[in-house]
Amino acid sequence: MSDPYWKEHLKPCPFCGATARIETFMNREFVACDHKKNCLIKPDTFDLTYDYSIRKIVNAWNRRKDGDGE
Ligand SMILES: [Zn+2]
Repeated sequence: MSDPYWKEHLKPCPFCGATARIETFMNREFVACDHKKNCLIKPDTFDLTYDYSIRKIVNAWNRRKDGDGE
């Protein structure tokens, strides 16, 4: 069995570098992250889960200010 799509595509948190993963809550998948204590932003993509497919969520998470996301 190969890794799911997101496992090799998800980038670490842009603010603290912690590893990101997909979590499921109430049947919705979103990007979560074990942020380090000093992470100021602690982003996740839960707000996106209503409209976004898993690929779009991964892309949204990976997007960076300089536009180097996939
Ligand atoms: Zn973080």
